Amino acid sequence: MRPIIGVLALTAASMSGPRQSTQDSVTLAITDVAVVDVVRGGTLSNQTVLISGNRIVAIGAASNTRAPRGAQSLNATGKFLIPGLWDMHSHAVMFGRTSLALYLTQGVTGIRDMGAERFAAAKAWRDSVAAGQLLGPRMRIASPIVENQRWLAAVKRMGEAAGTPWRMYERYGPTSADEAVRWVDSVVALGADHIKVRNWPSPDISRAIVERARERGLQVVGHGNEPFPRTGVATLEHGIWPPLQGSDAARDSLWRQLAANGVAMVPTLVTWPIRLDPPDTLIAKLNAGRIPGLQYVPRQAREQWRDQLLELKQEDPTDWPTIYRGEMRNAAEMHRAGMTLLAGTDIGAPLLVPGFSLHDELGLLVSQAGMTPLQALQAATILPARVMGLADSLSSVTVGKLADLVVLDADPLAVIGNARRIHAVIANGRLLTRGALDRMLATAEAEASAQATHYPLESPVGLRLYNVVAEPATLHGKRGLQLTLAPGVRTGPVFARIEGLDFSNGVIEVEVAGAPAPGAPEGARGFVGIAFRLLEDDRTYDAFYLRPTNGRAEDQERRNHATQYISQPDWTWSRLRQETPGKYEAYVDLLPDEWTKIRIEVRGDRARLYVQDNAQPTLVVNDVKSGGHAKGAVALWLDSGTIAHFRNLVVTPEDDTTRPK
Ligand SMILES: [Zn+2]
Repeated sequence: MRPIIGVLALTAASMSGPRQSTQDSVTLAITDVAVVDVVRGGTLSNQTVLISGNRIVAIGAASNTRAPRGAQSLNATGKFLIPGLWDMHSHAVMFGRTSLALYLTQGVTGIRDMGAERFAAAKAWRDSVAAGQLLGPRMRIASPIVENQRWLAAVKRMGEAAGTPWRMYERYGPTSADEAVRWVDSVVALGADHIKVRNWPSPDISRAIVERARERGLQVVGHGNEPFPRTGVATLEHGIWPPLQGSDAARDSLWRQLAANGVAMVPTLVTWPIRLDPPDTLIAKLNAGRIPGLQYVPRQAREQWRDQLLELKQEDPTDWPTIYRGEMRNAAEMHRAGMTLLAGTDIGAPLLVPGFSLHDELGLLVSQAGMTPLQALQAATILPARVMGLADSLSSVTVGKLADLVVLDADPLAVIGNARRIHAVIANGRLLTRGALDRMLATAEAEASAQATHYPLESPVGLRLYNVVAEPATLHGKRGLQLTLAPGVRTGPVFARIEGLDFSNGVIEVEVAGAPAPGAPEGARGFVGIAFRLLEDDRTYDAFYLRPTNGRAEDQERRNHATQYISQPDWTWSRLRQETPGKYEAYVDLLPDEWTKIRIEVRGDRARLYVQDNAQPTLVVNDVKSGGHAKGAVALWLDSGTIAHFRNLVVTPEDDTTRPK
């Protein structure tokens, strides 16, 4: 059988006609697809594209180009094929490894890293992806970032003053032209693909870097921060800073000068809209999960965003709406003046989700910079390849090129948003079907939420018990744990500490039920709740708890005592009620011995108790007695005279948003 299959493969390949470039065995066929020509525009319908390994080896009419038997085949009738997209400004290493999968799921098969703080990590990613050991987009990586001495000194001063010295791992601040030349040589030896400058040194040092890099065959790319060189750099990033003050004519002449000198711009338009909201609004959005794609963002990246947003608050007041309008106008002007604009996002900056934000950027290039959908597509495909000198092997659907491709459900030349409608991605020849992409997203989502620890509470394992008996029990058909006072106990703490959980800020969710135990004293109410920030002394903690039998009492005062906040040992319920009546107690509808969902949010010295799925908190505490920075365990809490049930505890710690920056 073997020889026959071989012959069939050859026959099918030769049927594809004169554009056949090799007779390598075909590994993947994309059949009956409309091929989008990003170089000239337009589409060629009903094509079949044959791929061998990681190269496109043939493209021909579907009617006479057959997928050889044995090759993987993707029927793409009614679909559109484009080259994989590039994100030309990424700090993916800062975001974390999930970025690689997220990029691919959004059709981004190439990223230009713009500085990682950890060069070795970026290099390891790039090389592992290239070797097929790591699934991710093709990477071009930046040198350690160049800054000027003035900026480095200012950051050092600010950090020391604030008590949060920033470790500028690998940033380089040249002190002389000679030294900069030697540094460029060292970067070549390191294996960087380009040199990234953030704050330009003096013109003579900058010139030395640019010239030495050219001699060594390395591109220089950098922020458009004054005094940036007008020539010799491949790309400028994020527009011009400080914002241009000059006349329309002065701007136009700068754009034309840059265009004539072959300097492209990566405007990262998507980074500007977040400047329109105050940092606190953005943090609130972040906390509420109101960012598209946020469910895929790892906790560590979300925390980094929150820190970055808090840092924005330290900035001097700036008229961002005016700057925003200026940046959008500039992008349109640059485009009209003939500058090459490239699609990039600045992944690593707050609220930008890898891949998703590149599509946002393409939308902005159309709506703000005045591009056609074709031009926006070019800004993420053939133009990046040309600017980086890779166009011979990448970024158009052409025989002989590397197979970085995206199959779309709808025509991106009609509406650029159709580039989001991804049916399949081919990354370096490897097919990722819609099913595979969905599994990658599901994995990212599971990892992102894995930080929430779930305790089903179906056995006492993992609990340290203090004067309580804990046993598995079913209440109203739901399994959980029953906690009661241990026999003979008169004094001391009554709770079950969750072992191995250190909690300061975050969200605690649990279902509880409480009822007075048989023979309990007259005042028993079925006290049940959650203690948090419990110290090792076993007596210092904060707690919210319920008094279920008060929920539907006929006495309004008792109803008002349905929920309670306390902080042991100093702030008992009786002291709080005496000194600040009504402040730490509140009414909510409750029934004894019924499962009741509670959710406790703790952030610094603010805590909120939510009961059932009420949108508004039942009890608001703005002066948590343990203070803004306390840390400790979480415990299942009850009082003597109670039969308590607990199930489904979920603890989601957050970073300490109140620590001084
Ligand atoms: Zn950047």
